[in-house]
Amino acid sequence: MSKKQSPSKGLTRREVLKHGLYGGLAAGLSGSLLLQGCGKKKQTDVRPTNIILISIDTLRADHVGCYGYQRPTSPTLDKLASQGLLFEDATATSPWTLPSHGSLLTGLYPNRHGLKTYYSSLPTDVITLADVLKEHGFLTAAIVNSQYLINRYGLDRGFDDFAYIKEIINQWWPSEVEDKAVEWLSKHSSKPFFLFLHYYDVHSDYSSSLRYEKQFVRPYSGPADGSTVQLLRFWRGQLSLNQMDAEHLIDLFDASILQMDDGIARLLKLLETSGLLDNSLVIVTSDHGEEFLEHGGVLHSQSQYQELIRVPLIMRGPGIPQSKRLRNVVSHVDVMPTILSLLGIGQPSSLDGFDLCPLWQKSGFQVPQRYIFAMSSRRLMPPKYEMVYNIECAIRHPRYKLHHNRLTEKRRFYDLQRDPQEKIDVASEHTSLVDSMLSQLKSFMSVDIVGPAAPPLPPEEAERLKSLGYL
Ligand SMILES: [Zn+2]
Repeated sequence: MSKKQSPSKGLTRREVLKHGLYGGLAAGLSGSLLLQGCGKKKQTDVRPTNIILISIDTLRADHVGCYGYQRPTSPTLDKLASQGLLFEDATATSPWTLPSHGSLLTGLYPNRHGLKTYYSSLPTDVITLADVLKEHGFLTAAIVNSQYLINRYGLDRGFDDFAYIKEIINQWWPSEVEDKAVEWLSKHSSKPFFLFLHYYDVHSDYSSSLRYEKQFVRPYSGPADGSTVQLLRFWRGQLSLNQMDAEHLIDLFDASILQMDDGIARLLKLLETSGLLDNSLVIVTSDHGEEFLEHGGVLHSQSQYQELIRVPLIMRGPGIPQSKRLRNVVSHVDVMPTILSLLGIGQPSSLDGFDLCPLWQKSGFQVPQRYIFAMSSRRLMPPKYEMVYNIECAIRHPRYKLHHNRLTEKRRFYDLQRDPQEKIDVASEHTSLVDSMLSQLKSFMSVDIVGPAAPPLPPEEAERLKSLGYL
């Protein structure tokens, strides 16, 4: 793929928004892979009045019931999916919070939106989903539950209201996100709105109230306690964990999913009783998954395996079919163009994603062939355990996936159809495809924007991150 243009093609973001210089171009792998009609006004009578975008931090798709998980972790999400549309093969652009949310909220990959470290912020010319919706008359609000999404990184851009609820590491009680959301809705729901909600309940420490733990946690006497601090010691080689420990961590993780799911249920109930649910587009996804020794690691951000980048993506509301599942490979970069299309709003040119609406609006339509990408993993590099960024990248073909380490040039290649767990490297059986995908990946990564420096971390926050081993 050739080098990407600046998101605004040299115009300021304000000029683009003011003059409506939107294009129909959805950037794909090659110039020939354009989705015709993307970004133009759609002739459809059914449009949502409001948009509610929910991101559940760290929720991996295969631990959600409607994605085939055997444990009853997610009755609310399962019901939501049965009333709407479920994407079976949705991929995050990054296995950690900041770059992944950057893609969700801008329609750009991390190498193009520039959010990749604790020290960078969103470039001023990047247009966000909230920017566009605000310009089109929506009230815009975000309620976020992680310090990685606070305004110092620029993802608050375009939001009229932006609230940060400090994350509770030991999450023994449900999050306050829906309480804040209810409070905001009680004052502002008379106008069309875009509400972005971010939940931290599933993220480590894996803890939930006793009623949820009772349902999932089996007797265990090992050392694993589900705390981030302990799991970071594993990262550094200071603690060993075995399969039994991983099973216990999964029990704790699953309990926290059900606690979160109950929170979403309260929110949806309120939307329903206040008459807002049926004219709102509700989208639920996650920024990344979590690993439990499947490939030798824990937590997230160290690699691009499916347990880390395969995420739930569920949509419900006006313009969305009911009880439908799509198997197409889609990415978080597709969310922004799809929302804008559902609203009949043109979109900024040069977005990386596609408008997915034709998949259900046009019989027999297939998303044009393309590759999708994941990047921006962090790695603790010995001997000082420095944090290094953008080392492990991945490129995804509908069936195959190539992992590539940009430092060592090491690569791994998997056939996801035959080997969804990514256990057997089949690079030697597909040498020309591997070479071609590697070339595409390197070309794509040749553009690697670093956003302007973020304001310094407040000393107490820097201390906290240091104590957790993140800095
Ligand atoms: Zn996250």
